[in-house]
Amino acid sequence: MLTICANRTSSLLFRFNRRSFTKLAHESSPAPLRGDDDQEFLPQMPPFDYTPPPYDGPSAAELLEKRQRHLNPCMSYFYRNPLFLVDGKMQYLFDEKGRRYLDAFGGIATVSCGHCHPEILEAIFNQTKKLQHTTALYLNRASADFAEALASKCPGDLNVVFFTNSGTEANELALMISRLYTGFHDIISVRNGYHGNAGVTMSATGQCNYKYNVIQSGIHHALNPDPYRGIFGSDGPKYAKDVDEIITYGTCGRVAGFIAEAIQGVGGIYELAPGYLQAVYNSVRKAGGLCIADEVQSGFARTGSHFWGFEAQGVVPDIITMAKGIGNGLPLGAVVTTSEIAKVLTCHGYLNTFGGNPVSTAGGLAVLKVIEKEKLQHNALKIGTYLKNQLLALKEKHQIIGDVRGRGFLLGMELVTDRELKTPATRETLYVMEQMKDMGVLIGKGGLNGNIFRISPPLCFTREDADFLVSTMDHIISKM
Ligand code: PMP
Repeated sequence: MLTICANRTSSLLFRFNRRSFTKLAHESSPAPLRGDDDQEFLPQMPPFDYTPPPYDGPSAAELLEKRQRHLNPCMSYFYRNPLFLVDGKMQYLFDEKGRRYLDAFGGIATVSCGHCHPEILEAIFNQTKKLQHTTALYLNRASADFAEALASKCPGDLNVVFFTNSGTEANELALMISRLYTGFHDIISVRNGYHGNAGVTMSATGQCNYKYNVIQSGIHHALNPDPYRGIFGSDGPKYAKDVDEIITYGTCGRVAGFIAEAIQGVGGIYELAPGYLQAVYNSVRKAGGLCIADEVQSGFARTGSHFWGFEAQGVVPDIITMAKGIGNGLPLGAVVTTSEIAKVLTCHGYLNTFGGNPVSTAGGLAVLKVIEKEKLQHNALKIGTYLKNQLLALKEKHQIIGDVRGRGFLLGMELVTDRELKTPATRETLYVMEQMKDMGVLIGKGGLNGNIFRISPPLCFTREDADFLVSTMDHIISKM
């Protein structure tokens, strides 16, 4: 009885809170957080010894106007006044006025080693000064060296590399290879996943926000093994049965392949329920298909516990695709597979003008070296776990935080106006994000309802950075 009363009281309190969250989120210009009274309590950004040179180019307003005139009209921006960033150093970014921000988004999980890392810049400059481009039809040392280094990071027989310029291109190639190699057409992907914005990858993507009304054939989207909202909770093998059913009822019984992220990034940092990939890989292989791990966000040490995201599920894929963190910001992607599977492309050429170009691959090799030299995987595990625990502690304090999830430096926090109903707190998320920017912290946002914070900083993020992020968030949510 006592528990029931306590629950009722907290739910009443929560309802009251919910009203105030909603009110805040609707305010067109929220009250500033920097009132005189607050000054001494405001969280302080850790010191950092770098001052960018003064910026003397066009203003943010001029740029915005030019972008609106000449850039694609579907472009959207974070923040009410889009942020204009002109300089970066490791985990910090600077706007045109020289103001410093802690970057906890990492250019969408892309800046792995830190902005303008000196050793990566040096590798890029040195290669650029010597030779920027020829063609893959001549020998090129940088791509061979990088392919060898990359293969050494992949398990089993995965040691043949195709270089691309983006994640979309890598996934398109992997999906085509799986169709050619198996001779089958059907591909299974997971709902809420993101795999790219071209023909087959857009089809494989499982979110309406990223799909246009164009022909998308031969793709089946399986139940998302989502431990937070999914019907089977954290029971991966139960969700995997949906893949069996798709094969049985939706295909000829044979499939080309299966593609999934180990932790859905764009979808809102959903880590696939444990045991899911093992069960699915078994079913897909029985049906003649190849298993593709999309490591565009979860690869390159970001999850801390492992170098690749799929390793946490104890599986070895037939094809790994990668981009983003592989190049620390360079346009670079890759497909790694076995020599036997790779041979399927030898009946024709696979021409990619820039894939494997000397500059990107010299940079990519430098990224791998920095990840190892600076023990960034270990840092992602240590500081990422610390940050996650701090965020979990915030969840105990604030009802609006419905879930904290992910690993290493691929973390998500979902805001809900009702913990039981899990009602997305979309406006509140926008509000907190805007205020965090005003206080100097940049985080990302995702999920179908835009109510999930995405925290994917450069892997050099420190404990002090984590404390600053958490105390900033706490400060803002406490005032809502
Ligand atoms: N796969 C995943 C998991 C991604 O997050 C993305 C990009 N957000 C892509 C593929 C596509 O990569 P790109 O934008 O480089 O084409």
